[in-house]
Formats: sequence, C-alpha cells, structure tokens
Amino acid sequence: MEQYRSIAIDGPAGAGKSTLARRLAQALGYLYVDTGAIYRTVALAALRAGLDPADEAGVVPLLEGLDIQMGYGPDGVQHMCLGQEDVSEAIREHQVSGAASKVSAIPAVRAFLLEYQRGLSCAHDIVMDGRDIGTVVLPQADVKIFLTAAPEARARRRLLELEQKGQPASFASILQDIQERDRQDETRAVAPLKRAEDAVLLDTTRLNLEESLAALLAIVKERIPQ
Ligand code: C5P
Repeated sequence: MEQYRSIAIDGPAGAGKSTLARRLAQALGYLYVDTGAIYRTVALAALRAGLDPADEAGVVPLLEGLDIQMGYGPDGVQHMCLGQEDVSEAIREHQVSGAASKVSAIPAVRAFLLEYQRGLSCAHDIVMDGRDIGTVVLPQADVKIFLTAAPEARARRRLLELEQKGQPASFASILQDIQERDRQDETRAVAPLKRAEDAVLLDTTRLNLEESLAALLAIVKERIPQ
C-alpha cells in the first residue's frame, strides 16, 4: 500500500496558518486541507437553522442530515458546499468565526468530522491545518508544526486583510475577538488547542509571509527528505 506523507499545522486564530499551509502545499505538490473551513460550514448550517451554535442538544440532530462537500477549484483553492450551495465566502463572515469556535467544542461535532479528516490523509500527500491535527486527527503525521504569533501581531494582520477587502474594523475589537477565540479553543474539554509534544514551534511575530514560508520549508525538508 502506498504511504502518503502528512504535515500537520496547528495554531491559534490569525497566525497565518491557512495562507502558509496553502503555499507550503503548493511548493511541495501536496493537497491542502483547511479543516477550519469544515467547522465553519457546520457552524453556518447551525446558524441558518436558527440554532444557538453552543446548544449541543440542538446542533447534534442537525449533523445527521448535513450535506457538506469539500472540493477544489481549477486554481487549487478549497471550496466548501452546503447542499448545492458554494458557501466558501459565506463561511468567512465574522459571525461564523465565533459560531465555529462554539460548535467545535461539541464532542459529537468533532467525532463526526474526525474520520472524514483522517480519510483524506489515506488518499493524498497532505498539508492539513487546524487546532488538533497533530494531537488528535493525525498523531502519526510526518511533520508537526505549531504556528503562532503574538495576539497583537495576529490582530494587526487581520486588520490589514479586512482593510484590503474594504471592510474597515477596529484594532481593539479584532484583538478582543482573537483573544476570545483563543480562550474558547484552548479551554474546551475535547481536543483543545495545544502544541503536540513533538511539534516544532514556529513563532511568526517578527517574520513576514515569505520569511515564514522559508522557515516552514526548512522544517519540512529536514524531516522529509525530498
Ligand atoms: O481556522 P479557522 O479560524 O477557520 O477555524 C474556525 C474555528 O474552528 C476555530 O476557532 C476552532 O474553534 C475550530 N476548529 C477546530 N479544530 C480544527 C479547526 C478549526 O476546533 N481542526
């Protein structure tokens, strides 16, 4: 049986995981899987059903009939579909971020998505990013990286991103959201955000995107001979 390579990247909100993981996957010719997008799609479904995303008794029955599909566009960008609708843009809305953090604390939601995520690693070389990839989803990953940056640096990057999209926001409110999501993700009972013991820590507070990518590639090349 062919052995596929897997690279797990975990870390807090706004550490640049998605951009860096996508670029890393491109550079290596691996498939990129953004697991946050999958949790966000469940959260969007809960919000659209009029549910409180923290309400386990309400959210769990929703899982059974949930039609979530993941696909890739010609540009290699990951798309999420809910039923027939492409929700890749809708899941990025501010309200969905907080809701994703809430539904993801529900054990049945995590169990529901676990096998799906693991299945992907049996069929492709992958770079997968999230919160519990190195600790729970792919404990056997060839390389584990814990990507982080100071909350203020993460908030500044997010602010810039929103400004570039023409959606100005306040630094203070972004920082507060980031800290609140960190708190929820780090303190939940099931699969909390934490660095796997064997994960390499990469702090990008003082690194720009290209420098961060170079650091990631160096970590990978040391562990997966090309
Ligand atoms: O990474 P992103 O910000 O898109 O993730 C949204 C939320 O989904 C996170 O705040 C976290 O609560 C949850 N999540 C998770 N486990 C993952 C990926 C995301 O709990 N593997």
